[in-house]
Amino acid sequence: MRQAYKPKPVNPVNPVKKMKYKHMKFGFSIHKDRQINLDIADRSVFHRVSLIEPSINRCIFCGGCSSTCSAGMFTDMSFRRVSLFLRRGMNKEAKELIKKCLLCGKCSMVCPRDINIRHTMIILKKEIDSL
Ligand code: SF4
Ligand code: SF4
Repeated sequence: MRQAYKPKPVNPVNPVKKMKYKHMKFGFSIHKDRQINLDIADRSVFHRVSLIEPSINRCIFCGGCSSTCSAGMFTDMSFRRVSLFLRRGMNKEAKELIKKCLLCGKCSMVCPRDINIRHTMIILKKEIDSL
């Protein structure tokens, strides 16, 4: 014989306290916070490089360099991303990309802002030991 349904006793102060939300699927999840506080980010590498090669300040992040990058054909190398990472103080992420540059100089030939990217990469390759 079927037993009658007996609801579990709930906490009268907070009825939802004992619910286990971590096992429930809502169809979305909360992403890790990606805010960058530029007041505390370590932008020292970017400032050092821009003192030696000031043209890096002219970057408009158009992606022309990334689309012609020789290393980018086989890896995730992109000078546009390197430039962004350094401005945001994400030096470790930039370091991983800098290591992949072949110093071929194709990016410098297509940059609409006439940035000497190859020279910038040479400086950065010397700097990455401090990253
Ligand atoms: S092509 Fe020049 S301006 Fe465009 S993202 Fe690359 S470095 Fe910046
Ligand atoms: S110099 Fe480096 S970043 Fe520029 S196209 Fe060559 S491999 Fe890519």
